[in-house]
Amino acid sequence: MKLNTNYRNLQTSYLFSTIAKKVHTFSAAHPQADIIRLGIGDVTLPLCTAVTQAMHGAVDEMGKKETFRGYGPEQGYAFLQTAIAQYYARRGVTLELDEIFISDGAKSDLGNMLDLFDKDNTVLIPDPVYPVYVDTNVMDGRKIVYVDATEENGFLPLPPQNVHADLIYMCSPNNPTGAVYTRDQLKQWVDYANEHHAVILFDAAYEAFIGSDDLPHSIYEIDGARTCAVEVCSLSKTGGFTGTRCGYTIVPKQISADGLSLNAMWLRRQTTKFNGVNYIVQRGAEAIFTPEGQAQTQSAIAYYKNNAAQIARVLDDLGIWYCGGKHSPYIWLKCGMDSWAFFDMLLEKANVVGTPGAGFGRNGEGFFRLTGFGDAQRTVEAAQRLKEIF
Ligand SMILES: *Cc1c(COP(=O)(O)O)cnc(C)c1O
Repeated sequence: MKLNTNYRNLQTSYLFSTIAKKVHTFSAAHPQADIIRLGIGDVTLPLCTAVTQAMHGAVDEMGKKETFRGYGPEQGYAFLQTAIAQYYARRGVTLELDEIFISDGAKSDLGNMLDLFDKDNTVLIPDPVYPVYVDTNVMDGRKIVYVDATEENGFLPLPPQNVHADLIYMCSPNNPTGAVYTRDQLKQWVDYANEHHAVILFDAAYEAFIGSDDLPHSIYEIDGARTCAVEVCSLSKTGGFTGTRCGYTIVPKQISADGLSLNAMWLRRQTTKFNGVNYIVQRGAEAIFTPEGQAQTQSAIAYYKNNAAQIARVLDDLGIWYCGGKHSPYIWLKCGMDSWAFFDMLLEKANVVGTPGAGFGRNGEGFFRLTGFGDAQRTVEAAQRLKEIF
């Protein structure tokens, strides 16, 4: 047998294990230290009651012969596809139900989608970045070119001149930087993708954090996106589903190449290799899109965004450059030194844990990620400590 030796080309990620080790060493040496963790990229508030009630109801249905369900449609139940289509319709985006595929989360879809693309494609990825985009392509042996996200472009790079790409990754609002593309900027990417006959893989995992109608939640708000963009979304950050697992991917019927339809290929891929998300979780997901579920999830999102605002206010006072925070749980600040040195300094002087930007790519060096996913009081306390050490 022969193994996929592309796995040799993966860089070992020491980011979160190094953070854990450093925090462990520090707290062993300073048992009294009251450490506040603002490094987490996971939600901390529980599922809302609209969701848990819907899931309880679904559990009861599964326990009765008359309402029990076995295998469901691989691409998801129509009730959830319909709820998602209506959610998009409120923003003027029309989707057909068979363009909406329910999955167990965005990470799986981002990886699995690559089944549909030849190895011989050039992949354009922003740096810094959510590491999944890079690693899934390294595993397949695709050529990667990077586009620089920097302080100068507000961590919102535009299409590079004289560079060809076949697959383009975008994440807005962005993890790790919290930056959000405007409609004009997204339009430039859509035009670039259509010119190059490329496909944009648009990660909208944080769309629900956008608090302004002026900013696009979906790439399909942009003219021309239906011929070039796949949108991957998740209920992980929207509805606290990181442990519950549900997401969805939109594959428009207009994308095709070599006489093949991407939508038809994805349907075939999913019906062959996936047997659907469980009924109970899909009922919980449906509840997120009810008026009650929307109000409850938005209240959790407001809590996280308020945490980010507390950190942002201190950075404003201190005159430290940052982006994100406003339409995102992430604050991306300029630390003005090596990002691991800043990590150590923050841990030692403020007993606050964050994430060094270097862990997200070359352009992350000199920057640092703090998150609003923590407890409100603890975040205020951490922000106060930041103020005291500068
Ligand atoms: C958290 C996150 C996701 C969500 O992934 P799931 O597998 O749905 O939990 C997707 N993309 C980005 C950039 C994220 O930060």
